[in-house]
Amino acid sequence: MRVLILGPQGSGKGTQAKRIAATHGVPHVSTGDILRDAVSQGSELGLRVAPILERGDLVPDDLMVELIRERLASEDRFVLDGFPRTSAQAEALDAMLDEIGKPLDTVILLEVSDEEAMRRLVGRAAAEGRRDDTDEAIANRLRLYHELTRPVVDRYRAAGELVEVDGEHTMDDVYAAIEAALVASGPVQ
Ligand code: AMP
Repeated sequence: MRVLILGPQGSGKGTQAKRIAATHGVPHVSTGDILRDAVSQGSELGLRVAPILERGDLVPDDLMVELIRERLASEDRFVLDGFPRTSAQAEALDAMLDEIGKPLDTVILLEVSDEEAMRRLVGRAAAEGRRDDTDEAIANRLRLYHELTRPVVDRYRAAGELVEVDGEHTMDDVYAAIEAALVASGPVQ
């Protein structure tokens, strides 16, 4: 199983990606988690990306592509979350999966309105005290999602590969819709 999950921050994609990974025993590859781990470890990568994450900006494409290339080369199955976020990243992903012969089985889009995403993110920032979740950073991330990541969504939709799931239902209902999409796209393994 090789799944890509797309959606704005606040769509619940991280939670749902973890659940897919746990249910099917496949690694959850989250670029946000990889970058946040690097920041908390204070590694060279972490020091470089910390201010970018704090502003809610995007890490440069070349850095992200190298990071994900190494990771995907070592996994046969995965739930990919947080990448690709730009057209350049999407092109690089297509090329690298082609090269290593590991095409995606399912591409899922979790849809939520900006209002709902904003409401959830502001609530989460208050509850968890996340430093990268200031109102400005949240608004910036949503703006960048529309500007840079929507074309990625459109690309998978145009290729007929996109399964669109309404993310404004309960977590369990959303997961049920995802599971149905996974089954429909082939043997779940
Ligand atoms: P996430 O947890 O996926 O929302 O990612 C948190 C932050 O990490 C984002 O706001 C970006 O600053 C950075 N990030 C994660 N994935 C990418 C990516 N594919 N390209 C650029 N920046 C990324």
